[in-house]
Amino acid sequence: MTQSNGEGRSVDVVIVGAGFGGMYMLHHLRQLGFAAKVLERGDGVGGTWYWNRYPGARCDVESLFYSYSFDEQLEQEWSWSEKYSPQPEILTYANHVADRFDLRRDIEFETAVDRAVWDDAAAVWRIHTSKGETISAQHYVMASGCLSHSKLPEIKGVHSFRGPTYHTGHWPHEGVDFTGLRVGVIGTGSSGIQSIPLIAQQAAHVTVFQRTPNFSMPAGNRLLTEAEVSSMKADYRAQRQAAKESGFGVPVELPTKSALEVTEEERNAKYEQGWSEGNLVALLLAFTDVITDKAANDTAAEFIRNKIRSIVKDPQTAEDLCPFDHPVGTKRPCLDTGYYETFNRQNVRLVNLRRTPLTEITPSGVCTSEETFEFDAIVFATGFDAMTGALVNVDIEGRDGITLKDKWKDGTRTYLGLMVHGFPNFYTITGPASPSVFSNMMVSIEQHVELIGTILSHLRNNHKSAIEATKEAEDFWVEHNNEAGAATLYPLANSWYMGSNVPGKPRVLMPYIGGVGVYRQECDEIVADNFRGFTMRDARTPAMA
Ligand code: NAP
Repeated sequence: MTQSNGEGRSVDVVIVGAGFGGMYMLHHLRQLGFAAKVLERGDGVGGTWYWNRYPGARCDVESLFYSYSFDEQLEQEWSWSEKYSPQPEILTYANHVADRFDLRRDIEFETAVDRAVWDDAAAVWRIHTSKGETISAQHYVMASGCLSHSKLPEIKGVHSFRGPTYHTGHWPHEGVDFTGLRVGVIGTGSSGIQSIPLIAQQAAHVTVFQRTPNFSMPAGNRLLTEAEVSSMKADYRAQRQAAKESGFGVPVELPTKSALEVTEEERNAKYEQGWSEGNLVALLLAFTDVITDKAANDTAAEFIRNKIRSIVKDPQTAEDLCPFDHPVGTKRPCLDTGYYETFNRQNVRLVNLRRTPLTEITPSGVCTSEETFEFDAIVFATGFDAMTGALVNVDIEGRDGITLKDKWKDGTRTYLGLMVHGFPNFYTITGPASPSVFSNMMVSIEQHVELIGTILSHLRNNHKSAIEATKEAEDFWVEHNNEAGAATLYPLANSWYMGSNVPGKPRVLMPYIGGVGVYRQECDEIVADNFRGFTMRDARTPAMA
């Protein structure tokens, strides 16, 4: 129950974030009989899909799999219209879920957490909000998303531009009209690659500033047929189970052959299939070793580079768009609609920042080492302080006054990507060292929410007031995560997966690459083994073991 003790409110659980993680966490806890409140800094639900409203924003997991599986009626009553849902449709779905389960009455909008402090004597979190309130909660769940703390480029004069600037990660809700404008776009990750074709259709001229070319393939987006939707609805249980047992959270046929043991024709035919289906996972899992063996990966990389060369007419632009500095998949590959074709337009120019680096943003535009560009608007598609940004930018203070920021200064340390030694009753949904961004987020979110529900129910049923990951269990998991990463090509890239897009951030492969099926099994075994790796405190014991 929510109570007030005169010093502020008290609830069982505070959840931060009303995206898909926070919404399901709230619903699930209510079903289990806990009183929970969600604090959300925006004025609506949807998380990523609330903030990222740039033109062309679209999910790159197929709609039929990018949805909640926890309620069969919800599955049956909702119908997706496109193969890859556009942002507005996903946001409508999030709002539908909020209405359907009456979630809003326990969500406090336009409320952020400034600071959270564990009170060890009382075994509660004291959570200080941007509204000046302190809420006490036995449990504190961060459902704040892996890609929610946006970042600007570290360039001299970044705030000096006189005209409007937009970051793709917090796009104006009313949209932006670029008609007749000269626009500079900085960044060519998924957000840049999705938005550039649409901005180019509207603007008078677009200059794209590219530091690292990315691998992208056509999404092949289209309307879903009624037959496809109803066949999925009839088979949802089996499909959901297959997703849970899979590697990336989407059912896929597993490869049996190495890319290096087949003929070039056979290899390219397989890549062509992934390319024409617009299926990223199918391309990365076309062979057993695409993400583990450099020579195998090179064959996929060259296949995509040849596609780029065949689409882009100007040979120098085509070559500039070809990635050579990282293996395919080690930076998040993109799905696009007409990205490479956009560089054949007369009103679009690519600037290769590897040749002519950005030097400054000025009141009237952008300077590189060789040129000065004048713009009417600038778009920053420069990404996020991924995985940790939203967590360490809240002042979270655990046992003995350690902050999460200090604890992670040399790299993230978690047990299962869910809990942190020194931070009792604190949970990170899809946190670092869980499959998170290496998966269909919906699958990983649901698993973590249900696991937290299992933990909280266990504590309640056994009269325990607190749970904490042991140091040994955390050390083991950090090592396990690192070993899993080291067996792949991911550490070869300077990617946000590795933290390398943020100057000074420790270089560690943050997400867990073991696969969602394996990870789920590991978690289930830990629970079955009497919550191996956790200590619990009796309701009356003053300190953690
Ligand atoms: P991102 O992938 O991190 O891309 C940021 C871009 O900005 C990169 O091209 C980066 O270059 C460039 N950049 C950053 N700082 C710069 C600087 N100082 N100077 C020049 N260039 C700079 O960010 P994002 O595109 O927003 O995507 C982030 C993630 O969100 C994606 O990987 C994906 O997981 C998710 N996302 C998914 C979808 C989808 O579902 N379809 C859509 C959008 C985003 P470098 O590469 O050289 O650092």
